[in-house]
Amino acid sequence: MRARNRWGWGFEDAAFSTTDARAAAPGLVGLLGFGESDPEEPAPFDPSALPAPRVVCPPHLDGICAADPATRAAHARGQSYLDTVRGLRGRYEHVPDVVARPRDTREIEDVLEWAGAANAAVIPYGGGTSVVGGVEPRVPERFDGAVTIDVGAIDRLREVDEVSRAARIGAGASGPRIEEQLAAYGLTLRFFPQSFEFSTLGGWIATRAAGHFATYVDALKRDPLTRAVFQEVLKDETFHMNYTLAQLTRVAPKRHRLVLWRARLGRLWKAYLRVMSAIANSAAISAGSSSSI
Ligand SMILES: Cc1cc2nc3c(=O)[nH]c(=O)nc-3n(C[C@H](O)[C@H](O)[C@H](O)COP(=O)(O)OP(=O)(O)OC[C@H]3O[C@@H](n4cnc5c(N)ncnc54)[C@H](O)[C@@H]3O)c2cc1C
Repeated sequence: MRARNRWGWGFEDAAFSTTDARAAAPGLVGLLGFGESDPEEPAPFDPSALPAPRVVCPPHLDGICAADPATRAAHARGQSYLDTVRGLRGRYEHVPDVVARPRDTREIEDVLEWAGAANAAVIPYGGGTSVVGGVEPRVPERFDGAVTIDVGAIDRLREVDEVSRAARIGAGASGPRIEEQLAAYGLTLRFFPQSFEFSTLGGWIATRAAGHFATYVDALKRDPLTRAVFQEVLKDETFHMNYTLAQLTRVAPKRHRLVLWRARLGRLWKAYLRVMSAIANSAAISAGSSSSI
């Protein structure tokens, strides 16, 4: 299996290198007006930084459980900014004692049964893209350990009803895996969160994720009314942006500039609301007429 980057987004073999970071840093500092032009290097992986496991996988679950440091570390956190910083610095405060990767419902039951008896907390893990600590085993002290259930192996499309366009899909299927399997039926789930590459169906449902990209692109492509509103707003905004810029270059007093910018932001907000309500209307109108499920 292709290894994920230990501290940031993406795969290890395609990670943003220190050389890339060094080259980008001065430009970023110039753009943002703060930051370091000499970027911090990712700490090498040190297995001794992990707390010792508190519960041990029983022999009958050996085939689906792992407790090696690399697997435990890979399931210790999500993808928030804090997770990235801690990952970069090689800090591991909360780590699962055991990571189980069941292949079906029966095996999930087996893991739950053992974890319950061992008084270990159980944490479901989909793509690990949570930005709110959802997969981090920061569990109350009343538990004797933490077991992560990685559902990544349960990723098959089980059943498709082509008439009602309903499908049963394994909770661990990632965005690309879902689309790849539905494509065989000429269908799409049409759900594209920005974390699409790694996040999973189970994770989307558990977190009530939003795949706004789908609505936006679909509405602009298929709906002439939304496209017309969007183009009109864009034309309007370009004119007013140029007008504001011209005024700003002529107007020196700081207070006046602030007033102008406030008015500009108010207009932008109204424009945003116009586009969003057009998209929402077109999504409501076209619901049921597209070939998504
Ligand atoms: C770069 C980036 C872009 C993002 N873009 C978006 C976006 O566009 N829209 C959006 O809504 N969010 C976005 N997110 C947040 C995140 O991707 C979503 O919350 C996503 O739904 C998490 O899915 P996951 O499979 O990675 O779940 P995980 O991170 O693995 O888990 C999230 C939570 O769900 C629980 N869980 C996972 N699988 C199951 C299951 N099968 N059964 C029960 N509980 C389960 C976990 O225990 C955890 O509490 C983004 C995050 C990043 C890092």
